[in-house]
Amino acid sequence: MHALKKAQARLAALEQNLLKRSLRTSASPCTPHPTVDGLTLKAFCSNDYLGFANHPDLITALTEGAKLYGAGSGASHLISGHSIAHAKLEEALASLQAPFIPHSRALFFCTGYLANLSAITALASLENESASSSTTIYSGKLNHASLIDGVRLATAQTKTNTVIFDHHVLLDLERKLSSDTAALKLIVTDGVFSMDGDLAPVTELLALAERYDALLIVDDAHGFGVLGENGCGILEALQLHSERLIYIGTLGKAAGISGAFICGESTLIEYILQKARPYIYSTATPPAIAHALLRSLQLITSAEGKQRRQQLGHLIATWQTDMVFSCWQKMPSSTAIQPIILGENKTALAVTQHLADAGYWIPAIRPPTVPAGSARLRVTFSASHTIAEVRELISTLQQIEVTVLASNAQ
Ligand SMILES: *Cc1c(COP(=O)(O)O)cnc(C)c1O
Repeated sequence: MHALKKAQARLAALEQNLLKRSLRTSASPCTPHPTVDGLTLKAFCSNDYLGFANHPDLITALTEGAKLYGAGSGASHLISGHSIAHAKLEEALASLQAPFIPHSRALFFCTGYLANLSAITALASLENESASSSTTIYSGKLNHASLIDGVRLATAQTKTNTVIFDHHVLLDLERKLSSDTAALKLIVTDGVFSMDGDLAPVTELLALAERYDALLIVDDAHGFGVLGENGCGILEALQLHSERLIYIGTLGKAAGISGAFICGESTLIEYILQKARPYIYSTATPPAIAHALLRSLQLITSAEGKQRRQQLGHLIATWQTDMVFSCWQKMPSSTAIQPIILGENKTALAVTQHLADAGYWIPAIRPPTVPAGSARLRVTFSASHTIAEVRELISTLQQIEVTVLASNAQ
């Protein structure tokens, strides 16, 4: 069979280029000490930033949700799958973003991937009904794959041009915006860049959106629950306010469960609901999950949530001051995402192996997730880690650097 032979050859090429990925199967809940293949590991790799994935209140709420609403939703939201649990969750999400987005409304999605596809394709379609009009999507160069795929899909469906911009060089973006005659302009960015850990210049991007009549879509997958006094995310942290903001938060990271939402001005959200194919043609998430997420939102905004954000802040500060390499580079990130740039895939894999030998689980991130030649370790912290654990990781990494540099020099 041609397809089979081709797949074998392609897989062999991935293996040869050190790009083959593999699954590791965990036998325990998501904690800093999961059991994998019979071993208890020290994990610094999840996006469970507040340590809620295994929180007893959320386990109780999930059980309670199943008792109230059963196991499944039975259909897509617009057929019969929309439950009171989804509606309550959407109201709570909209009210969290209300100080930052006037007339806010939120729409709940099964995943962030689908929310991103939906927001971009639906909004890009605002202009596709008249032959003369057009849309430009300005998409950040380091945006998450799901935003990139949303842009690709929108470009395939509608009369849409794409401009890729570097968020470090906004003058270039402004130059392009100022000469753009497209009827509709969308600027699309991550809030916190998922592989570098830095924040997008959302204040400056919003000023450009205001000046050139654009919408600004912010994917805050790594900011929701973590950034801002109450954990509302990057709009709260930066104290922004505009009806041009389309905010996307995911609920499988700091919120500890699963799902995502788009929040925006209510007419725009109604339009997305009418047009977003991933929303219209997917079975609604089980209502029990929405029920548990409501509890998760309460935890995020509670004193406990605040305490966990403080603990995370201590861990990040310890890392930023104490993690000093002789040669390797850590990035100047103020978030829970702390990459170490290693360059070659081979080095990244060697470091991961040394870490594994020392009982750590920190995966190497390779292309195409990051640009070629910038393979890295992606260390992530959770409020469930202790300062002592971070210190131990730092000294282990320093020893590994010495070993790897010495073996490269031979
Ligand atoms: C994880 C992630 C997503 C996807 O969210 P899921 O709910 O996991 O599908 C989208 N954008 C960014 C930046 C992410 O990190």
